[in-house]
Amino acid sequence: MEILVQKYGGSSLANADRIRAVARRVAASRDSGRPIVVVVSAMGDTTDDLIELAQQLAEDPDDRELDLLLSTGEMISCTLMAMTLRHMGHEAISLTGAQAGIRTDSSHRRARIVAVDPSRVHRELAAGRIVVVAGFQGITEEFDITTLGRGGSDTTAVALAAILHARTCEIYTDVDGVYTADPRIEPRARKLDEISYEEMLELAQQGAKVMHPRAVELGSVYGVPIVVRSSFNENPGTLIHGETAMEIRNKVRGIAHDTDVAKVTVVGVPDRPGIAASLFRPLADANISVDVIVQNASIQGTTDLSFTVARSDLNRTLRLVQPLTGELQAADIVSSTDLAKVSIVGTGMQHAPGYAARMFKALADRNVNIDMITTSEIRITCLIDAQQVSDAVQALHETFQLDKADL
Ligand code: ASP
Ligand code: MG
Repeated sequence: MEILVQKYGGSSLANADRIRAVARRVAASRDSGRPIVVVVSAMGDTTDDLIELAQQLAEDPDDRELDLLLSTGEMISCTLMAMTLRHMGHEAISLTGAQAGIRTDSSHRRARIVAVDPSRVHRELAAGRIVVVAGFQGITEEFDITTLGRGGSDTTAVALAAILHARTCEIYTDVDGVYTADPRIEPRARKLDEISYEEMLELAQQGAKVMHPRAVELGSVYGVPIVVRSSFNENPGTLIHGETAMEIRNKVRGIAHDTDVAKVTVVGVPDRPGIAASLFRPLADANISVDVIVQNASIQGTTDLSFTVARSDLNRTLRLVQPLTGELQAADIVSSTDLAKVSIVGTGMQHAPGYAARMFKALADRNVNIDMITTSEIRITCLIDAQQVSDAVQALHETFQLDKADL
């Protein structure tokens, strides 16, 4: 029978009562007779708390040590879940990421899965057990424990679902699914019944917190249908998959926003080949992902080059870029953190002109100034003042009539 993979996030496991409630849910799915693999995140805010604790003791804790520390969060929740299930009379076993066969490269804190060896999981399932796996972690060739980047339990779940040829990967969280916008900002936001991998990937990359972008990407590559739903009720959730009725629905599917944005501008660099390369190479080597990049038209042979990074990467970025001012012959390097990104996403937009113009008009009508613009085939993103992000999301939701159900 086809395997079911379920992943439960930290808020679904925040305390003993929540763990018991989730265990009941797992047990109910198990009663249908299907083999089940449960992937768990750390309880509540455990990961944040552990990072904070580490920082109290070491200003810049070593990444390898931090990974081993953080991995304990998921070990706590997986053992507790297995014990609870056993107490309820179900055969269950907990496995660390390593025991579940999650092999990664050695880039601590943002490790990538290089292979999954499912043999132990298969053996446990064959023995009739519910397998509870610690998410977010793996092991290197050297047997060092790694973590997959914040929110990485989603990635563990989808990777296991792919290798086990699971029928679906259910991601349980504290919201009912994927919404047309963040419901905390736009109360009229509507839950989507389904969304394509492509659209979900763009929304997740542009700040929709509901799923980790890497997990969506894996789902798309391996064709794993993903269901995002709440562990707090029985609502059906949102199906993320390959097929959607593209022609008959609203061309804008959703709006994402992200306030985790810092902008760096290198002022007055000579307009000649190689400048961008020597600026961005060290950032790439340091594993800093650069998002929006804009180079102004040059005036009298010099130009300004702006780019954005996550706020948490700003200090590292400046440390790498500042020493280059001489080499780049730049006049200055300035940075700011009071920006946010707002994006509209939809596969239907790619052959339909006019969406950019409508977006800019909606923002202008609310007096929102646009600092930078980037696009993909199915997305338009504007960088705006962080103070205006709620206004912008609401304006766009209204303009593109996302409160209306699909036709
Ligand atoms: N516990 C980890 C985090 O908070 C991984 C996860 O929740 O998916 O980032
Ligand atoms: Mg978490």
